Amino acid sequence: PIKPWHIGGPVVKGFGRGSKVLGIPTANLSTKGYSALLSEHPSGVYFGWAGLSSQGLYKMVMSIGWNPYFNNTEKTIEPWLLHEFDGDFYGEELRLVIVGYIRPERLAFPLSLNFGFEKLQANFSSLESLIAKIHEDRRIAERALDIPTYSKYRDDPYLKGSS
Ligand code: ADP
Ligand code: MG
Repeated sequence: PIKPWHIGGPVVKGFGRGSKVLGIPTANLSTKGYSALLSEHPSGVYFGWAGLSSQGLYKMVMSIGWNPYFNNTEKTIEPWLLHEFDGDFYGEELRLVIVGYIRPERLAFPLSLNFGFEKLQANFSSLESLIAKIHEDRRIAERALDIPTYSKYRDDPYLKGSS
């Protein structure tokens, strides 16, 4: 369990890779003003609740990090809201309460290590395995957020944008 924390702001444009390459849209937030918070939390996959100004409250699973598969040079905050939207919502106020941590981010370069019989694959060898992993993360988030320990945070007033 982690101590829940908050991040919010208008949804900004990313590289447009989420939907197009992975079939997984991520509503990017600006990292401005969050460098201290981000350095306190390891890169990886988190889950929690998302409040999208006018539209409502949703479960979310998100990546914080460098996107090693794509060799990004800047850290990004990329929540995937677990809901089917009719369109984009760039510029809308998005507020997150992050309540749980699923896994660390993979290493930055494809790397195979041979230890006798064991072969450890450190990066995602294919886009397919990356996509499969993200869907596994989504299922973990969906289930965890139904547990009272995590579901109670959907009532966090921060999500409503009033504080
Ligand atoms: P970008 O690189 O600009 O973030 P993406 O391909 O990651 O583009 O798509 C993200 C955008 O898609 C969001 O900014 C949002 O406007 C829209 N979107 C639609 N459905 C969702 C969803 N379920 N979760 C997150 N973003 C979504
Ligand atoms: Mg995105």
